[in-house]
Amino acid sequence: MQFPRFLRPLFGNVIWRANTSSKVIFLTFDDGPVPEVTPRVLDILDRYGWKATFFCVGDNVAKYPEIYADVLKRGHKTGNHTFNHLKGFEYSKQEYVENVAKAAGFIDSKLFRPPHGRIKPSQLKALKKHYKIVMWDVITHDYNKKLSPDQVYGTVQKYLRTGSLVVFHDSVKAEKNVLEVLPRAIEFWQSRGYSWALLDE
Ligand SMILES: [Zn+2]
Repeated sequence: MQFPRFLRPLFGNVIWRANTSSKVIFLTFDDGPVPEVTPRVLDILDRYGWKATFFCVGDNVAKYPEIYADVLKRGHKTGNHTFNHLKGFEYSKQEYVENVAKAAGFIDSKLFRPPHGRIKPSQLKALKKHYKIVMWDVITHDYNKKLSPDQVYGTVQKYLRTGSLVVFHDSVKAEKNVLEVLPRAIEFWQSRGYSWALLDE
């Protein structure tokens, strides 16, 4: 699905989709790195020569620094996705900002994506001073185990448009869907003349 258009103005000065006339897709992966999935995602991307931005959970980077290093070594970008994958609505501004700062000890990036897309205006305002806030245009729901790979792929096909920020997950929950759909998605985009692009910091 796409993020509800009527909600977008509430966020202001946040990126949903790139303002570009080039046929590019900004591919992003959230919630890694994890040993079960991230290395296989990296292999798929290498096979097609595609680059992506990985919004990492700080706690996972702390546990798996070698996989995180591999993400960077293979030419991808990373972004901050908090240390403990916090839902902003459940924490104070200070708790939230501190958790992002803790993650920043492991993730050197000026890009930030709020877990679940949930963030209070006060938290957003504080973080915008230091980060480019990156939401998304198309979320594949690859982590939803009730969805088949064909359904997830259907979402990819349905919402194709220039400059889209597309979210997949390099997480155990998404494993079945992301590993099967990612190659099909890249082949689909390429067949329509699209290539990859990376987010600027
Ligand atoms: Zn997440």
